[in-house]
Amino acid sequence: MGAALGLSAVPYSMQSQTRKPAILGGKRSFNGTWHGWPVFGTPEEQELLKVLHSGQWCRLGSPTAPRFEDDFRKMTGSGHALATSSGTTALYTMLGALDIGPGDEVILPPYTFIATYNVIVQNYALPIFVDTDIESFQIDATKIEAAITPATKVLMPVHIGGSPFDIDTVMKVASKYNLPVIEDACQAHFAEWKGKKVGNYGMGGAFSFQGSKNLNSGEGGAIITNNKDFYNKCYSFHHQGQGSDAASLEPGSGTRASNLRLTEFQAAILLAQMTRIPEQVEQRTENADYLTEMLSEIPGIKPAKLYKGTTRSAYHLYMFRYDKKAFAGMDRSKFIEALSAEGIPCSMGYGTLTKDTYVKNLAQNKHYLQVYGEKRMKQWLEQLSCPMNDKLCEEEALWFYQTMLLGSKSDMEMIAEAIKKISREAKAISKL
Ligand SMILES: *Cc1c(COP(=O)(O)O)cnc(C)c1O
Repeated sequence: MGAALGLSAVPYSMQSQTRKPAILGGKRSFNGTWHGWPVFGTPEEQELLKVLHSGQWCRLGSPTAPRFEDDFRKMTGSGHALATSSGTTALYTMLGALDIGPGDEVILPPYTFIATYNVIVQNYALPIFVDTDIESFQIDATKIEAAITPATKVLMPVHIGGSPFDIDTVMKVASKYNLPVIEDACQAHFAEWKGKKVGNYGMGGAFSFQGSKNLNSGEGGAIITNNKDFYNKCYSFHHQGQGSDAASLEPGSGTRASNLRLTEFQAAILLAQMTRIPEQVEQRTENADYLTEMLSEIPGIKPAKLYKGTTRSAYHLYMFRYDKKAFAGMDRSKFIEALSAEGIPCSMGYGTLTKDTYVKNLAQNKHYLQVYGEKRMKQWLEQLSCPMNDKLCEEEALWFYQTMLLGSKSDMEMIAEAIKKISREAKAISKL
């Protein structure tokens, strides 16, 4: 009744214009501009110029990367932080520090960015996929134990979308089999499980500062760990096998290494970006919670479940599921098209990694055939099946990007209104 009274002030023709989906010729729900990315200004300029004029552009013997590491360590509540050239090299460094190599198996989820897979293959280890929990989009931690063999050396689950995987269940199986856990937290800056920041639960956590990530220096990454010995091994691996005292160049304890160092310029940008983090984290959380409240009421829309221990998601992605049965059988791609007509960008997200030709070709790689044999690689190919992940990727998953969550409360209301409009006229839209 209240709603009807409110609308009665608007002429009927206009009501139908605003109620009609844009894809059917109605007015767009969103006419503004979405929040821009990256966010920067005077602090970034000042820090960058300081590095430029100092002439100290490499981190060795320089102050900026260590200053950033100190900030990042404090903000994650961790014992040690090591900056790296990317999120991929943060993961690669940790696998190197654990001396993962040919013959070893590493467990990972299929619902992830392909870098998680690539760092395993870079070491000629065998990637073993554990299917997805379709409700959370995270690795199904209850299925990890069945994938463990005597060759398993590391568990590498991912906090996908910036939401924690079921850390308690993962840590329980890891301790039962005495396996180190590497947390791929490349999307999960400052996410929390039971009040503690992710990346602190495993042997180490990896973060990415690539341009799309919640903390951005174009390219860049970091490792956090609470194990001093592991930190030293990581430092050594990322610095040509040398010790952490750059002046004395004491050899590290490993036998393989590379140059995976962050530059002082990247560290300068990160230092400035860090000052913006607390406010951005609050903003995303507030908007995501509000969006979840509104979207949960729409039939056929299911925001990704957060596990009970989650005290904060980083919301790098706002992930939700779409059930076309509740939308008169409208295909997911048509739903995206209808949302796009409303001025709201939305993505289907990741493809099915385990069906990717690039991944399947591994069974033909000459080095893999040499190390594991033809029989094992054929078996590996057959074990790639992840039916829940297939269903999620091929039919249900949808994402909004983190930058949209930096907008206003009314931006969130417009997203929900647009989906409601599409839902009301689903039959007509699906016939288009
Ligand atoms: C971005 C990302 C990476 C890799 O980070 P880069 O900095 O791009 O190398 C690894 N894993 C996940 C889950 C990511 O999202």
